[in-house]
Amino acid sequence: MAECSLANGTRGSKTPPTKDGVTAAELFLEEGLTYNDFLILPGYIDFAADDVDLTSKLTRRISLKAPLVSSPMDTVTESSMAIVMALCGGIGIIHHNCTPEFQSNEVRKVKKYEQGFILDPVVMGPDNTVADVFSAKARNGFSGIPITENGQMGGKLLGIVTARDIDFLSREQYKVKLNEVMTPRELLTVASSGIKLKEANDMLQKSKKGKLPIVNEKDELVSLISRTDLKKHREFPLASKDEHKQLLVGAAIGTREDDKDRLDMLVNAGVDVVVLDSSQGNSIYQINLIKYIKQKYSDLQVVGGNVVTTSQAKTLIAAGVDALRVGMGSGSICITQEVMAVGRPQGTAVYNVAAFAREAGVPVIADGGVSSVGHITKALALGASTVMMGSLLAGTTEAPGEYFFSDGVRLKKYRGMGSLDAMETNKSSASRYFSESDKLKVAQGVSGSIVDKGSIHKFVPYLIAGIQHGCQDIGARSTEVLRDMMYDGKLRFEKRTVSAQVEGGVHSLHSYEKRLY
Ligand code: IMP
Repeated sequence: MAECSLANGTRGSKTPPTKDGVTAAELFLEEGLTYNDFLILPGYIDFAADDVDLTSKLTRRISLKAPLVSSPMDTVTESSMAIVMALCGGIGIIHHNCTPEFQSNEVRKVKKYEQGFILDPVVMGPDNTVADVFSAKARNGFSGIPITENGQMGGKLLGIVTARDIDFLSREQYKVKLNEVMTPRELLTVASSGIKLKEANDMLQKSKKGKLPIVNEKDELVSLISRTDLKKHREFPLASKDEHKQLLVGAAIGTREDDKDRLDMLVNAGVDVVVLDSSQGNSIYQINLIKYIKQKYSDLQVVGGNVVTTSQAKTLIAAGVDALRVGMGSGSICITQEVMAVGRPQGTAVYNVAAFAREAGVPVIADGGVSSVGHITKALALGASTVMMGSLLAGTTEAPGEYFFSDGVRLKKYRGMGSLDAMETNKSSASRYFSESDKLKVAQGVSGSIVDKGSIHKFVPYLIAGIQHGCQDIGARSTEVLRDMMYDGKLRFEKRTVSAQVEGGVHSLHSYEKRLY
């Protein structure tokens, strides 16, 4: 055995063999692994966690300040989620389990969003009753409700109903129509569309009202400003914006012929990136659609997928994708691996596809299977540029759907887009999981519920801080450095046994409370 030289210069004694983990290439040589199967070994810290730069590429041309993407699922991403994701530095992908009109309108809401202006407030018509206002109050908390001719945004403004208009009414008067109790249009202070937030703010201060309706030249309601929202006004230094300072947003589409019409509507609404939504993306349908989009809308960024192997990635890269979505069977609601016998453990899939796609300059989105902030850091350390989440963001205030109680716990629905439940709602969802000719639907997902997590206004900043702390422990000042360290072999990994995983979780306590932030 070779003689070793010790730090203190003593020669001749033998140092027992030691090893600080393995490289990513060594880690993924053999069996498929996922996030819980390994850990990253700590490095050297000489900077603050706040200084870690998380800027990452979503696609070849779009960069985000936070590497976080909300999944195109009908219980995760519509405009409310997409707006806050973009404000916090990430991006939301609007689902397509709906009509093209609905989806493009959700995209438009994100693109038109201006902080402080509410674009989809609860609106009622003159024939709604006082009882309707009280039930809206129970659902959404009370706020002044604008009354328009057709009961919708875009209708001619007739008045507003506030708490003061209905507080003293008796139960018998709940049937009274709103045109009898509302404060009529002529008594309202309104502002014209195009007004700047600062001016609107001044008008609200002067009028001492709680709400300021904004109308167009035809006196139709286009948005609303609320005093309570203005008081909560926050800065969003990480916000993802385009060159016109509008928030970035993505939308998912299928690969059928009629998805081309949907695509046109989304492009008209201003979508920044489209995600081709297939559970197995390596298909002639997807390749043809990528080529079609690149020819028709050369500026539009296109995400292909899903893929889990380098050979799948190769065909989509050759067809011209701007990013790849990686994951098959790793989603929390997913039964693809069980039913189809196909898929790949997510850690192995992300590492292999990212290493391959990197050669072509194509960023990778690690999609699914993320159940903690540590999983996000691991995905980034395996080469992913961004991470897509479903369950982690479901159950939040911004996720679509109403809260409900079960056994005293406040819950929201969360379902796979390949669950029978979702596929029966709209055929677009089925298109992700079936071809035209499929007669019998075989579910690839389940439908369930998820505990109330509060607003992503708090949750996403927690995720960002968590990733920064992880990078700090590793000794990586940025996600780019993190990836370079991994490819250089400086980042060291270690597999962990099942008992090591138990040790790594909370254990040996009689009871505990897990508060994360
Ligand atoms: P999660 O973050 O682990 O909940 O996974 C979300 C991801 O699961 C989505 O972004 C999709 O890629 C995938 N997914 C969504 N619905 C289904 C389904 O019904 N079956 C299989 N995978 C699904």
